[in-house]
Amino acid sequence: MTSPTLVWIRRDLRLSDHAAVSAAVERGGPVIPVFLRDDLVDDLGAAPKWRLGLGLDHYAASLEDKGSRLILRSGDARAVIPALVKETGADAVYWQRAYDPDAVARDKDVKAALKEMEVEAESFAGHLMFEPWTVETKQGEFYKVYTPFWKSVRDRSVSEPLSAPSSLPAPETWPESETLEDWALGVAMNRGADVVRPFVQLGEQAAQSRLGAFLASKVADYDRTRDIPGMDGTSNLSENLSLGEISPAQCWHAGQRAKEEGKAGAETFLKELVWREFAYHLMWHTPRILTDNWREEWEAFPWNEDERKAEVKAWKQGRTGIRFVDAAMRELYVTGRMHNRGRMIVASYLTKHLMCHWKIGLEWFKDCLIDWDPASNAMGWQWSAGSGPDATPYFRVFNPVTQLDKFDKDRDYVSRWIAEEYENPHKDALAYFEAIPRQWKMSANDPYPDPIVPPDEGRKRALSAYENRSF
Ligand code: FAD
Repeated sequence: MTSPTLVWIRRDLRLSDHAAVSAAVERGGPVIPVFLRDDLVDDLGAAPKWRLGLGLDHYAASLEDKGSRLILRSGDARAVIPALVKETGADAVYWQRAYDPDAVARDKDVKAALKEMEVEAESFAGHLMFEPWTVETKQGEFYKVYTPFWKSVRDRSVSEPLSAPSSLPAPETWPESETLEDWALGVAMNRGADVVRPFVQLGEQAAQSRLGAFLASKVADYDRTRDIPGMDGTSNLSENLSLGEISPAQCWHAGQRAKEEGKAGAETFLKELVWREFAYHLMWHTPRILTDNWREEWEAFPWNEDERKAEVKAWKQGRTGIRFVDAAMRELYVTGRMHNRGRMIVASYLTKHLMCHWKIGLEWFKDCLIDWDPASNAMGWQWSAGSGPDATPYFRVFNPVTQLDKFDKDRDYVSRWIAEEYENPHKDALAYFEAIPRQWKMSANDPYPDPIVPPDEGRKRALSAYENRSF
């Protein structure tokens, strides 16, 4: 009988279009899916870690439906994977590639250790459609601007998604597993968990339904509605893409079919999927985008980096007195997600009107987003701040008041998320007060605050700092 194959599951909690799972099944012999709780998991923020726990629970159940199990182990993969190979007698380990620098370094070490043991170690594509090293300019360089990146990939062929295997052969005896209860991945969510939970759409099937519903009824108007935060005009798939509950290739092929059917908006959806690829392209080629100003000259900019500043607190707590900003920050706290327009507005307000370092915002999003994605988050923050590649110029300061008139004319968005001074506040606006820590001492009955920094004043201050910059 063929020896077992370990499939090391990471941010790819699906069975369809999973090259590593399919290859393991095809290889013959038992398949042992394993997930490791390592430093990378421990370093996740509160909301993404909680969402990962829910995702793993759901994924374990879907493996059981296929006659399999998810084995959970903790520790450094460099030690745990080789130990598990010895314990199970596995002679191959398969996984799907990750692209952030810590995961890349870890995976390289694991591969080397396995090769030394003469165990087959193979990584597969799947988290991306276009491997970052395969897309290059005519000069052989990586892309720093989105539009030429899009043009260079839009006509590439993307492999047809693989079907889920009908079953996964089980080993004669399963190795011991730790439990999700013991891992308590949701512990830092505190009372927020019950509030966010109804907004979560968990697992592969839910993701496929989301995609189907989006393409059936929303994509036709996507060009028009995707910018209106008071409408549910986007796919909401980022939550599932982030944990690999759906693959980008599955979204791409479905989007292409919608385009062929003449659905307006389908091409824009494909372009958005490519923004995600572009973010990974940038992170792969310049991993410092995660930690440092991508444009080095920005190191000299006089950002406020003090998290304890009252303005930073007001921003995090959704009480800046700027309705668009506060609505979006509250949406984040209640749903674990934020509309893209909101993300751009709050990021611009923090980095420009409040002149705070984008890292403060990046870290807050990392703690609060259930669709947290290292590459898209870093690109989004550096784009908004002006320090990134292909970024919005610093002198283009979003005015959160005129933006509200443009994108939330009827105030559907702010009235959904702000309770103060409404006679009958929306239930989601009230839910915010259930989710936030009590020590914030906020109540729906408080008066709505005055702006901490009025838009015009903040704009002038930011532009003057920019004009007087020494870089
Ligand atoms: P749709 O409009 O339906 O788009 C489909 C998919 O395309 C998305 O699910 C996403 O995977 C991709 N996409 C769309 N817009 C972008 C974009 N601007 N950049 C990269 N990919 C995109 N996205 C995340 O997934 N995780 C993050 O942590 C994240 N942080 C961000 C931080 C800031 C400051 C900004 C400005 C943007 C950030 N984004 C992030 C990008 C974007 O806001 C979300 O991907 C989008 O709002 C997700 O909603 P949706 O799934 O309905 O998107």
